[in-house]
Amino acid sequence: TIGQNLARTVARFPDREALVDVPSGRRWSYRELAADVDELARALLAIGVAKGDRVGIWAPNRPEWVLVQYATAAIGAIMVNINPAYRRHEVGFVLRQSGISVLVSALAHKGSAYREMVESVAGECPALRTVAYLDDPTWTSLVAGAAGASAADLEARAATLTSDDPINIQYTSGTTGFPKGATLSHHNILNNGFFVGELCGYTEVDRICVPVPFYHCFGMVMGNLAATSHGACIVIPAPSFEPAATLAAVAAQRCTSLYGVPTMFIAELALPDFASFDLSSLRTGIMAGSPCPVEVMRKVVDRMHMSEVSICYGMTETSPVSTQTRVDDDLDRRTGTVGRVLPFLEVKVVDPATGVTLRRGEPGELCTRGYSVMLGYWDEPEKTAEVLDSARWMHTGDLATMRDDGYVNIVGRIKDLIIRGGENVYPREIEEFLYRHPKVSDVQVIGVPDEKYGEEIMACVIVREPGSQLTVDEVRAFCQGQLAHYKIPRYVRVVESFPMTISGKVRKVEMREWAVAELG
Ligand code: ATP
Ligand code: MG
Repeated sequence: TIGQNLARTVARFPDREALVDVPSGRRWSYRELAADVDELARALLAIGVAKGDRVGIWAPNRPEWVLVQYATAAIGAIMVNINPAYRRHEVGFVLRQSGISVLVSALAHKGSAYREMVESVAGECPALRTVAYLDDPTWTSLVAGAAGASAADLEARAATLTSDDPINIQYTSGTTGFPKGATLSHHNILNNGFFVGELCGYTEVDRICVPVPFYHCFGMVMGNLAATSHGACIVIPAPSFEPAATLAAVAAQRCTSLYGVPTMFIAELALPDFASFDLSSLRTGIMAGSPCPVEVMRKVVDRMHMSEVSICYGMTETSPVSTQTRVDDDLDRRTGTVGRVLPFLEVKVVDPATGVTLRRGEPGELCTRGYSVMLGYWDEPEKTAEVLDSARWMHTGDLATMRDDGYVNIVGRIKDLIIRGGENVYPREIEEFLYRHPKVSDVQVIGVPDEKYGEEIMACVIVREPGSQLTVDEVRAFCQGQLAHYKIPRYVRVVESFPMTISGKVRKVEMREWAVAELG
């Protein structure tokens, strides 16, 4: 279990740093972390949290987030990660959908009053008994209640836990629709965090800067669990992503590893004072979540010292990581692929219509099987059955090809595939190409309905020079002779930003709705 794994690390590295919160200056050694986790676990026992009860956490990246993660695991409660970007309606949905009885929440974040929202939905959430707000007497008194349960009580509870117990509900990012609650066990996420950390080469000397949200598996599994299963240190640069604070934390804390989705690395590299940050301590890191443009990877390796940076591919439903690049992979593998399958997992590429495994190189749906596959979606057996087949293969909804060397290339999501006049058009390919245009800072390609071709191609561009223009003729001229005619965008729109999920993914669904309205 996660508790046993943490105890082993504490025994090996009691005095090494485990957690540093840069904004508050607070730090924990492994011994101190274990003591605070124990205290919070006893406090939860004291208010009657039973094994399998749902304990929600709704907060940006704060050290208490980590304490809640390990304390709930220690008593076999199911922690429910609540997206910090959620608002009243969504938080109410999650509280009800997963039947949360105890909620730990921030008072407010980024001008948004969490407390008021919780209070206004509490009446509609019959299971909700206790709410503790960080920085508030409700939290201090919750923790102070630890005296109500003993170390022996905690041990007695630990003895009832097994590694296959559900321990965590993580709602998917909601990129393609409404979020679903992936239910995960100790075995699922602890192993995944451990193996991701192995492939990053983590040891107790590593210091991992985590600017990605803890609420998402990227932060809590690839960050926290990868760190604590190797005795490494978790560094929190800011409650939510700020490019300058991130690089400042790397420099001041001598971090060896830095995480981010591609758009975060793009923002960091674009800082006007980028060169003033000393990033020489960096060795590795992880870029994941969405496709990484080649140019970005090149700069991350060359200018951020991250010569061993990993690309990971995965999804919430698979704990999350299924494939990862290896430390000694060259730039070609690190940009052209999302790595190869993790130890003790299987991946295959199938024809989505027939389920037959395809030849290497042929695009089809990627499927994953093994220890990482979720128990199911919380309280949604029909949705679970749509993605998990009887042989326990998880159907990812992602289109991929597998190379002869076993490395996997993500071509896009099945839902984003553009079918123009019967031709399959992969937005990613066009995005990669347009990224080379000197005026283009970032680009997303979507399909919009078209009477003649079924769908037509639209490129939405963020330009390098704010206020400047990029016309459809310029773009078409740039593509002419370089891309097949049916891949050349018919429409070009200059936009200021893309609609994003908080885990850093572009919500193409929303962009398509916008484009349809815009085209009239
Ligand atoms: P929802 O399932 O609610 O629509 P989501 O799929 O974005 O949201 P997550 O589980 O956070 O929710 O994201 C998993 C998805 O992210 C994968 O299915 C894949 O489409 C994309 N993804 C993850 N890693 C990569 C990567 N390295 N390259 C390209 N795409 C990636
Ligand atoms: Mg998904």
